[in-house]
Amino acid sequence: MALMPDRKRSWVESANDPETDFPLENLPFGLYEDDRQRRHTCVAIGDQVLDLPGCAHEGLLNASQSIGLGPRGLGHVEAWRAGEIRRRAAELLSDAAYRDRVDPHLIPQKDVRMLPSFGVGGIGDYTDFYASIHHATNVGRLFRPDNPLLPNYKWVPIGYHGRASSIVISGTEVRRPCGQMKAPDAAEPAFGASRSLDYELEVGFFIGQGNDLGETIPLEQAEKHIFGLCLVNDWSARDIQAWEYQPLGPFLGKSFATTISPWVVMLDALEPYRVPAAPRPEGDPKPLPYLWSDHDQARGGFDIQLEVWLATAQMRAAGQAPVRVSRGNLRELYWTLSQMVTHHASNGCNLRPGDLMATGTVSGTTPESVGSLLERTKRGAEPLVLPNGEQRKFLEDGDEVIMKGWCEREGFPRIGFGECRGVIAPARV
Ligand code: MN
Repeated sequence: MALMPDRKRSWVESANDPETDFPLENLPFGLYEDDRQRRHTCVAIGDQVLDLPGCAHEGLLNASQSIGLGPRGLGHVEAWRAGEIRRRAAELLSDAAYRDRVDPHLIPQKDVRMLPSFGVGGIGDYTDFYASIHHATNVGRLFRPDNPLLPNYKWVPIGYHGRASSIVISGTEVRRPCGQMKAPDAAEPAFGASRSLDYELEVGFFIGQGNDLGETIPLEQAEKHIFGLCLVNDWSARDIQAWEYQPLGPFLGKSFATTISPWVVMLDALEPYRVPAAPRPEGDPKPLPYLWSDHDQARGGFDIQLEVWLATAQMRAAGQAPVRVSRGNLRELYWTLSQMVTHHASNGCNLRPGDLMATGTVSGTTPESVGSLLERTKRGAEPLVLPNGEQRKFLEDGDEVIMKGWCEREGFPRIGFGECRGVIAPARV
């Protein structure tokens, strides 16, 4: 995409690259840790990180913009949500008059150690939904060819309570889990290393403002509780999952690791890329009133392109580039983010700042747009053949999975999410 003639330029040159994920119009939130284990809030700009406490110390941010990290997590959530901090950072990074004072607070992204949360105590709770009807249908069909969708799917945003302690930041090695599983033809289960390790391409959203226990969140208010979005890889051991999931749902087949991208893209940065919620097919039931509003239907979708890339150890050793194994879009979700938030709190469950929600695997309708190997290889029945001749039913040790997401629209700059990556390490025997 060509540079917009009227587009504001940054004095950080890499931010003006039309291919960057992080132009002035994005400025996603992040948290990094310095050599003395101090946490710093920051924004991404081009290939750099802008240290916000450093700018505050310099007197470049006012009190309501100073980025306190209090004992209960990030201060000024509202200033973030309202775009106030991003607007000020954009001023500092575009007006050359600030350059001398701001430049010392830029650090190359490759030199900072990002943390996976904006809460000081880490991510409080993690809930994973199942909002892609194409994913739910594809997976259901593997098990129930004639009746892939269960009767509740079109009424309830289905979710399960994931494990927050094992959420790791992009780049963290993921160890192949061991667990209990039972082969279909075996008389008894056995314990061992998973042989069907999979990725799940998802989008996460952080809660910025919570609700009190016993209170609910009306649909029209739901977005005020969303801080921003990131990429999520909900690693899944299908053999462990298949044996354990009935009747209470996913457990150890998921909880060994979940990888998230370090940057939280704010809702107001995503404003130009909003679209109507995916239309419900003719004949589908209208959701119950607490989950339905014309406003949410008119703008509850997000046009976010999502990709999964794979690099095997053999490919990396041969100097071969990763190969794309999936390409989809978030706009096809059956449930909107607001519907998920409202449903989650509809029983009075309190959401808290720093909680992470995820959409569930994002799949489209074509083989190239499914968000897991389970779907892509039909549970291993149709292995994926890579350009170098290697085949994959599921992930092997040494495989690296890289997820990317970005938005493009004519008249607006591309903004992106950065990467969510992880390499599979061998199981500990
Ligand atoms: Mn998932």
